[in-house]
Amino acid sequence: MTETDAIQTNCPACNKPIKKVKLYYRDGKFYCNKKCWRNFVKKPKEQQK
Ligand SMILES: [Zn+2]
Repeated sequence: MTETDAIQTNCPACNKPIKKVKLYYRDGKFYCNKKCWRNFVKKPKEQQK
């Protein structure tokens, strides 16, 4: 195996490494699961205040 940072291996929501078997693809990015995806999508919305 070679090191390729071209492939996303961490979840943008919780920044945890994503396991190949368990990933959730959405909007061109990989997440751990649906929950993390929703967290990531939700984040900017609740960022203010
Ligand atoms: Zn995650």
